[in-house]
Amino acid sequence: MRIVQKFGGTSVGSIDRIRKTADIVAAELARGHQLAVVVSAMSGETNRLIEMAHELSPCPAERELDALVATGEQVTAALLAIELQQRGIDARSFTGGQAGFRTDSSHVRARIQRIECEHLVRCLEQGRVAVVTGFQGIDEAGNITTLGRGGSDTSAVALAVAIGADVCDIYTDVDGIYTADPRVVAGARKLDRISYEEMLELASLGAKVLQTRSVELAMRYGMPVHLRSSFHPVPGTMVTSEEESMERASISGVAYNRDEAKITIKGIPDHPGIAANVFGPVAEAGINVDVIVQNISEHGLTDITFTVPRSDYNKTMELMQQVCRDMKARSVSGDDSVAKVSIVGVGMRSHSGVAKKMFEVLAAEGINIQMITTSEIKITVVIDEKYVELAVRALHSAFGLDREPGQRN
Ligand code: ASP
Ligand code: MG
Repeated sequence: MRIVQKFGGTSVGSIDRIRKTADIVAAELARGHQLAVVVSAMSGETNRLIEMAHELSPCPAERELDALVATGEQVTAALLAIELQQRGIDARSFTGGQAGFRTDSSHVRARIQRIECEHLVRCLEQGRVAVVTGFQGIDEAGNITTLGRGGSDTSAVALAVAIGADVCDIYTDVDGIYTADPRVVAGARKLDRISYEEMLELASLGAKVLQTRSVELAMRYGMPVHLRSSFHPVPGTMVTSEEESMERASISGVAYNRDEAKITIKGIPDHPGIAANVFGPVAEAGINVDVIVQNISEHGLTDITFTVPRSDYNKTMELMQQVCRDMKARSVSGDDSVAKVSIVGVGMRSHSGVAKKMFEVLAAEGINIQMITTSEIKITVVIDEKYVELAVRALHSAFGLDREPGQRN
């Protein structure tokens, strides 16, 4: 098999961890596979580099920032190659440019255009391990570019697609994807498989395990991604396409996000363009609006409620006071102690009554639902933050996700 292995910052965070990573690479090589290894910078390193730049300048040129942060991955790629060579393994490090990653010229948020990987493939065919820096490439003019924070995941999946790998193994510091946060639900189970779509829904909830772009890319090309731990040698979670034939539980997991705040504008004179008036200034301020609910208007007046990340709450409230005056709306109010709880699962497509059951479970716990939003495979409610754990546990158990007593992950 041809495999791409990607190791995140914690997996290469120290010399000791680099040795452990080399153990994993060596073991896979001994099984006779062809290996390309993509590495992140040591954990914390990218932040450290960015902070240094900001000590010198409040807004460093993005071209130079790219030249700077790209060094983090070069350090780990070279160190891992040195360690592999030390063990008699034929290994070689490649920068993004050397590996053939061609990107556009949008510094700090570049997109991969193509990977000219003939040379790298020849190395693999000769049994050599290619250790490639994640997160970076070069543009047409040869400038170093980077793909945006967390971009090594995207490098790994893109490389796997380009070289026709059988699987992209992403090694990280978690064992895989769980039916719920194990810190909240003691009986949470590790999922053997999850579909690309479910993974994307979870990512939009703030599960930062994989960069969203990497999942989109894997989905587009049908590249299986094996998310697993470099600390525990156990199988993780396979992110693959949905298998129609498989009998599916109605939901795969319960997720939550506390980083939410809610804002309501009441009594807005209802005419075309009001939503644009409300959300225009928010978008211009670079604030991400999430759940939006607009009421049916009464006597020509309507209400709009929406959520934003909690850190943007004060800023958004200020903007809305102004919007309220401009639009002659009645009032603005807000609450920065709300949270979002979602159930996610492709099984929802074929099971009816999932929403009804979710609402009944919350009602039985006395939890008031403030907002509701759905997609084809996700139902989200906004509730008071203090009930998050209760809601997640109740839903996890009501949808039959709890581990059987004695069953192990
Ligand atoms: N080192 C980069 C970052 O911290 C890329 C990555 O780790 O994926 O964002
Ligand atoms: Mg990462």
